[in-house]
Amino acid sequence: SRGTTPAPPARQPRLTVLSGPSGVGKSTVVAHMRKVHPEVWLSVSATTRKPRPGERHGIHYFFVEDEEFDKLVANGELLEWAEFAGNRYGTPRKAVLDRLAAGEPVLLEIDLQGARQVRASMAEAELVFLAPPSWDELVRRLTGRGTEAPEVIERRLAAARVELAAEKEFDVTLVNTSVEDVSRELLALMLNRSGDRNTS
Ligand code: 5GP
Repeated sequence: SRGTTPAPPARQPRLTVLSGPSGVGKSTVVAHMRKVHPEVWLSVSATTRKPRPGERHGIHYFFVEDEEFDKLVANGELLEWAEFAGNRYGTPRKAVLDRLAAGEPVLLEIDLQGARQVRASMAEAELVFLAPPSWDELVRRLTGRGTEAPEVIERRLAAARVELAAEKEFDVTLVNTSVEDVSRELLALMLNRSGDRNTS
């Protein structure tokens, strides 16, 4: 509730979900966070996507075959999962719950469908929407990565158009004008649970 009495909020395990359109720079923000704040624990997702150059198993993703992903789903080992642009991605449940139980903040970087699933199953989650400075900038980033086939980029643009409209479902919006700034703001959100934060 929004009382005027400044009661210091109890530190609660904080589950922060960073989401937003593909290409908005979520993984760049997370990579920056990893470098500057190695103490922050990031959930490593399982995916059926093939590794991009430089991506490492167990660091960026757990790269698995379709059959293995099927098993993770069937055994209830994923906190959430979604199909995105022809591949499946999911958050291993146990590692996240263990961290939260230990009172440590957890950061998930997942797509919008996954963010909705987390919202539904974990009421305490804070959903952070990473927005592009502009649509043109988003198109430029999606096109400029240079690692995807044109039809893959087209699919991602179509998804991004829909995803931009989802901003209103989120608790907080961070505009990705600078990786350093967003990273700092995200960390502040993760570490300071309180009722008086700024929402924009
Ligand atoms: P990419 O293939 O570019 O690494 O990721 C594609 C999309 O999948 C991104 O929007 C990324 O946030 C999302 N993603 C990565 N891991 C997960 C996950 O575990 N669950 C869900 N729902 N989405 C994920």
